[in-house]
Amino acid sequence: MNSEQWIEKSDKYIMKTYGRYPIVPVKGEGCRLWDADGKEYLDFLAGVAVNNLGHCHPRVVKALQDQAATLIHCSNYYQIPQQIELAELLCNHSFADKAFFCNSGAEANEAAIKLARKYSREKFDSLERYGIITAAESFHGRTLATVAATGQEKVQRFFDPLLHGFTHVPFDDLSALEAAINPETCAIMLEPIQGEGGINVPSVAYMQGVRELCDRHKLLFILDEVQVGMGRTGKLFAHEHFGVTPDIMTLAKALAGGAPIGTMLARDEVAASFTPGTHGSTFGGNPLVTAAAIAAVKTILEDGLLNRAEEMGEYLHGELEKLGTRYSFVKEVRGIGLMIGMSLTIPGAEIVKKGHMLGLLLNVTQDSVLRFVPPLTVTKQEVNRMIEILEKIFKEIDA
Ligand SMILES: *Cc1c(COP(=O)(O)O)cnc(C)c1O
Repeated sequence: MNSEQWIEKSDKYIMKTYGRYPIVPVKGEGCRLWDADGKEYLDFLAGVAVNNLGHCHPRVVKALQDQAATLIHCSNYYQIPQQIELAELLCNHSFADKAFFCNSGAEANEAAIKLARKYSREKFDSLERYGIITAAESFHGRTLATVAATGQEKVQRFFDPLLHGFTHVPFDDLSALEAAINPETCAIMLEPIQGEGGINVPSVAYMQGVRELCDRHKLLFILDEVQVGMGRTGKLFAHEHFGVTPDIMTLAKALAGGAPIGTMLARDEVAASFTPGTHGSTFGGNPLVTAAAIAAVKTILEDGLLNRAEEMGEYLHGELEKLGTRYSFVKEVRGIGLMIGMSLTIPGAEIVKKGHMLGLLLNVTQDSVLRFVPPLTVTKQEVNRMIEILEKIFKEIDA
């Protein structure tokens, strides 16, 4: 079937939760995608920061193929070697001592919220201690608890009554955060860099100040690294840029090279509150996805992809800035590593559409911030080609 035929069938059978573009990708390799009509695209969205290793990385493909032929799924009633090995790998490379596995970012955040509430109530012997402060413009997921945690009215509309206990404060504003802390507060939950919110990078002083506030008020510091983690910023975890350590961290998107997975990591003392029967997931951390994740994490670490993300990030950032100086509608280029936003004074939707026509996959968030999250394996030539296409579009708009 060609793209048009697929789109017609989609209209008939698929719920309209996404404003999908009329593109039907059927094959991918590295930074490139092909649609059902054979058209080639340069992919600078990478499945929204999922395909950090590019599409169909050979090591991930091999791990999936081997594991699929051996054991795809078994229950968490039993011990799962691949899950154990992945947990060890993540703990050895982070502050964390223990991991819980699930299937998505929202579920990882759900687990973090449940753990924070249970830990705090037990530790302080107070049922009143359940509040979580999050940031305006944050994004933590689409389940009911994570929608309540998310600081964007547009994702909450129509779904009230929302889960009680979430307060939103402006991001990167320490005094607003401090003022929101009350005796009911048990945790502060933030993205180290806001993704959906428009690639907002907070100051080092802010992040360190949040850690101090958490210590002073005995609150848990939860970091949602679902989008920024797994090497995207040039460090395995983005919080390393700020010299802070959370108590709980969530990961998902790029963790398994494209296979669906989520995880919530914590210090031992905090993790101890998750006792048998308090939380769980049928598929969470099953042999197939955890085998893929081991391959993905090892590839990031062993193939020098952290350095590469830093280097290519600097290059892409520089090229975007150069381009930006030539067009008055470009406000700012910001981000760390390969997590880059270009904010505009005009809506970005038209640019994205023109990109599609010219074979470039891009994304716009918050209406006017172009988001660049290519695979960490992206080459200089691919960046140059992307800039060429973008320049062509900018010229057209300027005319
Ligand atoms: C994508 C994202 C989520 C939600 O992840 P899902 O896998 O879609 O549930 C949560 N937090 C952040 C920061 C994200 O970018």
